[in-house]
Amino acid sequence: GVNRVPLIAGNWKMNLDHLQSIAFVQKLAWSLKDARHDFNAVEVAVFPPFTDLRSVQTLVSADKLPIVYGAQDVSEHASGAFTGEIAAPFLAKLDCSYVIIGHSERRTLHGESDENVAAKTKAAIASGVVPLICVGETADDLEKHGASAVPVAQLAAVLDSIPKGSDFVVAYEPVWAIGSGQAATPEQAEQVCAALRSTISEQLGEEAAAATRILYGGSVKADNIAGFMRQPNIDGALVGGASLDVEGFSAIARYQ
Ligand code: PEP
Repeated sequence: GVNRVPLIAGNWKMNLDHLQSIAFVQKLAWSLKDARHDFNAVEVAVFPPFTDLRSVQTLVSADKLPIVYGAQDVSEHASGAFTGEIAAPFLAKLDCSYVIIGHSERRTLHGESDENVAAKTKAAIASGVVPLICVGETADDLEKHGASAVPVAQLAAVLDSIPKGSDFVVAYEPVWAIGSGQAATPEQAEQVCAALRSTISEQLGEEAAAATRILYGGSVKADNIAGFMRQPNIDGALVGGASLDVEGFSAIARYQ
């Protein structure tokens, strides 16, 4: 998209412990550096498990690596009696640039509602961590309501919690495309991403809509990324499975 810095984001899910994370990030940085001559001006982000974040922070800051990072989830609360939860101020202290909120695995496996997603988004923004808000329809939704209705409703439900001028990222991830090897077509994804941008424009204004990055996610690989990146309303990708292979993820970040 126009004037928006593309974001290639790797969601590791529950993979790679803190020792493996160090080796991975080091190799990724080398791979990106090697390819500098054909490297797009993109932001490359990794989303490791919580227990890796301190190690990744130490490595990235010591070696000034061209990689940013974030967490896969965050608590709605800033502190207190919430056993097992991780607060947004903790992520900010670890220099997390982003936090994924409302991933379909959180929505389905952990029963997260649009209200939870809105509260987490608010908490992240209050701590200066940019929320990467995931929306997307299931195969059933697609059949019953078409592609755009559910993701647009999910996004509309969270936009009220975003103060004007805040930086946030949206990821359109059709649930049927996640981990299935069956990506949406670039044209299908573009259509929904355009609808999401209109929703931002309606609720937060044209300026916010023009500034906000909207990513596609769902079975993105090195050999299908370019088609998505050519779409005017797609500003990057959220990558699951293919983000666990250094060379594959590096190739996605170097899409042509
Ligand atoms: C995801 O879980 O965010 C995702 C897009 O997974 P995959 O790339 O494996 O489909």
